[in-house]
Amino acid sequence: MPVCLNHPEVKATVRCHACGKPLCPDCGMRDGRALYCSVECRARQGSDKGLTASIFRGRATLYRRKLLAASGATVLLGSLLLLWGWLAG
Ligand SMILES: [Zn+2]
Ligand SMILES: [Zn+2]
Repeated sequence: MPVCLNHPEVKATVRCHACGKPLCPDCGMRDGRALYCSVECRARQGSDKGLTASIFRGRATLYRRKLLAASGATVLLGSLLLLWGWLAG
């Protein structure tokens, strides 16, 4: 059984929701149903979780758009070369 991060003599019965550090109920910061070891962990796990996900989603869309544009340009270039070759005989 792990012991509390701040009280080596006290058994840890809960864990930080963000970093998973063992805590005793006295040390945990309660935020709704979750418990955190510090303000930093609460902030890290809290509101910015959804923000990070949306940023990642935005990046993925951007990457896909770039890929699409690149493949489109390649096709265009290829057909131009083909046309040029056909015209040049
Ligand atoms: Zn923590
Ligand atoms: Zn403690």
